Amino acid sequence: MTALLRTPCCEKCGRELSHDETALYRKLINRGAERFLCIDCLSLHTGWPVPLLQKAIADYKRQGCSLFT
Ligand SMILES: [Zn+2]
Repeated sequence: MTALLRTPCCEKCGRELSHDETALYRKLINRGAERFLCIDCLSLHTGWPVPLLQKAIADYKRQGCSLFT
């Protein structure tokens, strides 16, 4: 149980991740991911600017994407 409940951290910088960040990573990179990148490292990884990623989170939420609920 403890492994499942532990707050996920960014693979690269170690920062604790928000639910939105793990959901975005799943949405963009790998639906079944268990290791994640924070929004800043994801920006470097994908080449997408952070504001664009934040907008993507907002858009997915508005669409009612199940990963973000
Ligand atoms: Zn990071």
